[in-house]
Amino acid sequence: MRLLTTAVLSFALLFPASSSKPAASAPAPSDQSIFGFRDAATESSVEAHFLGVPDPKRAEEHLQILTKAPHMAGTIEDKATADYVAQQFRDAGLDTEIVEYKAWINYPAEISLDLTAPAGVEMHGPTREHVDGDPYQDDPRVVMPFSGMSPSGDVEADVVYANYGTPEDFEKLDKLNISVRGKIVLVRYGQNFRGVKVFVAQEHGAAGVILYSDPADDGWRRGDKYPEGPWRPDTGVQRGSVGYMFEFPGDPTTPGIASVPSLPDSQRISPEKSAQVPKIPVTPISYHDAWPILQHLGGPDTPREWQGSLPFTYHVGPGPARIKMHLKQDYQFRTLWDVIGHVKGREAPEEWVIAGNHRDAWVYGAVDPNSGTAAMLEAVRGVGELLKSGWKPKRTIVFASWDGEEEGLMGSTEWVEQHESDLRNSPAYFNMDVAVSGPKFGASAVPSLKQFLRDLTKVVPSPKGGTVYEAWQKSAQPNAPATQSPTEAIGDSRRAPAAQVKSDVPVGDLGSGSDYTAFLQHAGVPSTDVSSSGPYGVYHSAFDDFAWFKKFGDPDFVYEQEMARVFGLEAVRMADADILPYDYEEYGKEVAAYLDAAHRRAVDKFGEHALDFGAVTAAARRFESAGARILAKEKNPPADVARLNAALLAAERSLLVPQGLPRRPWFRHAIYAPGEYTGYAAVVIPGVNEALDQGDSERTRQQLAVLAAALDRAAKTLEGYR
Ligand SMILES: [Zn+2]
Repeated sequence: MRLLTTAVLSFALLFPASSSKPAASAPAPSDQSIFGFRDAATESSVEAHFLGVPDPKRAEEHLQILTKAPHMAGTIEDKATADYVAQQFRDAGLDTEIVEYKAWINYPAEISLDLTAPAGVEMHGPTREHVDGDPYQDDPRVVMPFSGMSPSGDVEADVVYANYGTPEDFEKLDKLNISVRGKIVLVRYGQNFRGVKVFVAQEHGAAGVILYSDPADDGWRRGDKYPEGPWRPDTGVQRGSVGYMFEFPGDPTTPGIASVPSLPDSQRISPEKSAQVPKIPVTPISYHDAWPILQHLGGPDTPREWQGSLPFTYHVGPGPARIKMHLKQDYQFRTLWDVIGHVKGREAPEEWVIAGNHRDAWVYGAVDPNSGTAAMLEAVRGVGELLKSGWKPKRTIVFASWDGEEEGLMGSTEWVEQHESDLRNSPAYFNMDVAVSGPKFGASAVPSLKQFLRDLTKVVPSPKGGTVYEAWQKSAQPNAPATQSPTEAIGDSRRAPAAQVKSDVPVGDLGSGSDYTAFLQHAGVPSTDVSSSGPYGVYHSAFDDFAWFKKFGDPDFVYEQEMARVFGLEAVRMADADILPYDYEEYGKEVAAYLDAAHRRAVDKFGEHALDFGAVTAAARRFESAGARILAKEKNPPADVARLNAALLAAERSLLVPQGLPRRPWFRHAIYAPGEYTGYAAVVIPGVNEALDQGDSERTRQQLAVLAAALDRAAKTLEGYR
């Protein structure tokens, strides 16, 4: 009863009568059912208590402390942030440890680019990142712009401009009879993962790659540049890893095994042999520094859509602009510090509900990732308050602060590889990378958790009035004003458009580009990813700092509060559910939609009857109807739900293919993987779709059989419960 009173009070605070919305639109927690719970009233009161805790002021304090110095993975400043997070976890009552791994990571030692032709053109870059009036930019610990995982190298060659460096862009160069062999390729950021640009350039024989940010993509063409506006200033550079994470993420020397400090060198592969490490040198520059290079390219005009926003006509080259590139990387095995906090479950301690965010940043990382860390710490404080009230979760909750995400999802991948057997019983991994760059809520998830996300946003208030769900619905409408997400704007989208099988707010598919990758795609743990986004042009630059965030990101920290509530509630609700709240019917429908699309592509490529989709379509239908039947039982559960939960838990793992994807054995999920040629964006039913991309009908046939078997296994798992 005490809890119930608290609940009513908290909800009165959460949805004040002064809100522009009529009071009636606020959810009435105690008389609504919650999917997965027999006793919604008790759960509602727990949730209301939790939701009352996250505080904007405290989130601001966390962010200020976390971002007071640059804290790249492996530095002493990174360790200091680990200690801060660990202390916050302990203060909340979590059983906390700092876990170390050793990973092969480069810092830049010497980076120089010079224009050696045409004679007399000045470019002694790269220039320092600088604007008028940013209080953080001059700290000597700001690392010079560089590309993670680039080898060292000295190259002098003519330059060819290759637009975004997609496979199609390189095909267009072939058609123009322009070869990149032996050349330095200049590509702009956007549309795909930077590692893919390098991978494709390497396949085409390029000698080196220069990445730059065009003002068209996240600079002044989009709006005022920092410090007047949120977009990239002339000298701002996007750092980032160019590692081939679509081969495997984590420490490049230990695919599939945990890179613990005691691991003998004999168990590591040499970095030169690692499929994750590019073979050609790569480095990023600003549009200030790209200007003289682009301006001195001859050859044909570029295709119109390749033209960016610098004030002259872009040409393809090669030359006469010629670049001398000198990169000396300082590669070492460096220490990573993951902070792991446990709240032991009272009924099923072996079932870990995990919620994680990375902590390491290229520089200050106010948005990426520490807006997520600050929100996570407020979620942790909320769980701490529940613990003080005597509540204990049914399942174990694990909060994780990952290190080395920027270098290649390292802290999370190594931890997953170390805990693979523990994770067989894990009901969910909830990720949050960038929590806030603006006001627009968005989410991605496996289909079984899409409805779970929609449901829980219905009880979280939005700073805009009403609930997060209502705001999400409004912004998801096709004619809603577009506040494009930062990462969408620069093509680093973690959010592929999902197959719309449900007329509800769209939840995206999980590709790669953040720490859920190892959980879902290697260990088969159902995952979600949430964020709130807006205009954000300082991604991975020195200017992603507290001053930018306070001015443009979330000046009042109310979206930080919102994201702390959403993220924490995911963990609390999943950990306490009587019946695991998965929807396998939606899953089956989505897979069927992916198959329809693949079937159409197969007909286009190979003709009407070349490939038989009969068995795989039947398997998808079987999975869908098994999902529908078990969903009916979840909604009307028997007294003993242990067997029901066991079947639900096992179904996602049944979608793992033990031998992995062709040529990429680390990636084992039959439905989702990052694309070899798209990077962050998801490739759905990757075995089949990538075989189709290659035009390989025999491999497509094999992969259809592998997929059919996985879907049959998942269906059988669900059918096993009667
Ligand atoms: Zn991040």
